[in-house]
Amino acid sequence: MALPLQTMSYTLRSPTHNIPRSHRPSLLRVRSKFPTNKSQPNREKLVAEQRLVSPPSSNDPTLQSTRTHCLWVAAGCTTVFASFTKSIIGGGFGSHLMLEPALAGYAGYILADLGSGLYHWAIDNYGDESTPLVGTQIEAARGHHKWPWIITKRQFANNSHALARGMTLMVLPLVLACNDPVVHGFVSVFAFCILFCQQFHAWAHESKSKLPPLVGTFQDMGLLLSRRQHVNHHKHQLTYMSYCIVSGMWNNVLDENKIFEALEKVLYVQFGVRPRSWSDPDSE
Ligand SMILES: [Zn+2]
Ligand SMILES: [Zn+2]
Repeated sequence: MALPLQTMSYTLRSPTHNIPRSHRPSLLRVRSKFPTNKSQPNREKLVAEQRLVSPPSSNDPTLQSTRTHCLWVAAGCTTVFASFTKSIIGGGFGSHLMLEPALAGYAGYILADLGSGLYHWAIDNYGDESTPLVGTQIEAARGHHKWPWIITKRQFANNSHALARGMTLMVLPLVLACNDPVVHGFVSVFAFCILFCQQFHAWAHESKSKLPPLVGTFQDMGLLLSRRQHVNHHKHQLTYMSYCIVSGMWNNVLDENKIFEALEKVLYVQFGVRPRSWSDPDSE
């Protein structure tokens, strides 16, 4: 019976006032799911902000995979596999004609790291929880900067379903409309790396002893993002650095040439939008 009193006084007092710490995240989610007044978007935004006040426990439902998450990951993997199959069949497996699809796949792997950096930079710096399509990911990214270890507790499909959905919706039309093995060589590898980049990112936060041996080997070889590559991104709560999370191969060149800082300045001059990385980290 204490809950209605808590929600009535929500805007005037700390939302966690008198709520046991272990119950705070779930109570706040209940409040978010059942708003009492649709004409108060700022209160909804405030509630979303309050989810970032304390970290979820490792068994929090928000870290678990749902059936929908699993279905999107299955759809994404099936779509990527269909694209990959078209690159193999069209190229003629084992023949010299495979060379071009293979080179296109290598280009897809290289550019996927760059694409992951662009996307990561965008959601780290712009928009908020109410942003259409990616609001949930923006909120998760902000939480990740407050409590980086949480990504290692997030279940696989929970962590990857949003990118799997994006890859399904983008790649499926190509699978249906195009039979070019070179196109599919590029697309299938690019989409695979983007679909799994959040898992690569999670592995970069995991202690080496808990990683599958092959993953540790790939990290050491520089084929997957390593903890050493990613640590710069979390030196401060918000940084300008090392956004790429497939292999991290682009991080040095982007950081040294301040490419994202230049992009932020262009966006600010053109549209007057300030990135979060210009904020005082303590205010986040
Ligand atoms: Zn980040
Ligand atoms: Zn991270």
